[in-house]
Amino acid sequence: MKKIYFDNVATTKTNKEVLKTYKELLDNYYCNSDALYDGGVEIYNMLEKSRENIARLLKVEKEEIIFTSGASEANSTAIKGLCLKNQNKKHIISSIYEHSSVHNALKQLEDEFGYDITYLKPNEFGVIEVKDVENNLRQDTILVSIMLVNNEIGAINNIDEIKKIVKKHPGTYFHSDITQGVGKIDIDFKDIDLASFSAHKIHGLKGSGVLVKKKHVELLPLINGGQQEFGVRGGTSNALVDIVLAKTLRITLENKDNDNKIIKELNKYFKERIKEIPEIKINLENSIDNLINISTPIKSEVLLNALNNQGIMVSSKSTCGSKKNELNRALKAIGVDEDYAIRVSFDHENTKEEIDYFITCLKENIKRYG
Ligand code: PMP
Repeated sequence: MKKIYFDNVATTKTNKEVLKTYKELLDNYYCNSDALYDGGVEIYNMLEKSRENIARLLKVEKEEIIFTSGASEANSTAIKGLCLKNQNKKHIISSIYEHSSVHNALKQLEDEFGYDITYLKPNEFGVIEVKDVENNLRQDTILVSIMLVNNEIGAINNIDEIKKIVKKHPGTYFHSDITQGVGKIDIDFKDIDLASFSAHKIHGLKGSGVLVKKKHVELLPLINGGQQEFGVRGGTSNALVDIVLAKTLRITLENKDNDNKIIKELNKYFKERIKEIPEIKINLENSIDNLINISTPIKSEVLLNALNNQGIMVSSKSTCGSKKNELNRALKAIGVDEDYAIRVSFDHENTKEEIDYFITCLKENIKRYG
């Protein structure tokens, strides 16, 4: 059976060039990048070259790139690292629909360390209002953490405006989880103190990510170790994985305009075709092009199963909480019943024919179970 992958927000297929380079590196290099003999120095130099290239692509400085195991670790490092380093201020502003890696880090600060967290709710368009950030800033606000693109409904936040507000408030830092925005939206890192993203959402390797940490920001390391990652994140570098991240990011950014054009077309086509099924409702019209969240008359569990049997992979909520019965905070915030919602997400390799097949299957399933 042909498999159709419409869950690109959960993860993406690994880019073939990235994979090829990674395999070649694995075949040839194994030394610890901190070793002082030639084998170690060679890997160290490649690792640092990768850091430099990533920094250049993002227009930040080399020392501001911290390699991590992914966006979850980058989020935890940024949020807990910053707040635990600056415990004289204990108020944080965030949104109610952050990814669980942000949400649970905040909960931990709240429950275990006595932090006071303001969880902002999105407006009817799924967006966090800039004025809500402004109105909630206090003398003791240490951090504002607002994601760029929500991973469940695809709402896009105006972080350019939010960072300006935070900038006007000395002593408050701005962090953004930009995981779902890299390669989709132009990101200006000026006045963003901390930002997290992951390689596997941009056709890179799993277990690979970056925390952009501006030079003036001090963090309490969560993983103690040696000199690696400027002392912020200990442990022998996952050097080969970190080395291919530069290539991953370069390919993503080089192809961005072209890929996004294809995705925009797919989005338009999907929305046209979905009109043929009056029982379907699009939950957020102004979402990012690669993510469409829809409600159907079928329980999402049942529909997911039926689609799976027809070779179609979609999800009903964030994959990180899919086995935990975790509440879909984003859908709840915009008043959608999560039990009937599914998330369809494309990349540039998807096709209109796949959408046609999806629509045919959806119609069949609604007839059968709806
Ligand atoms: N933030 C967002 C917005 C995400 O979508 C994800 C992936 N589900 C993460 C963080 C976590 O990324 P990783 O899997 O690299 O830890």
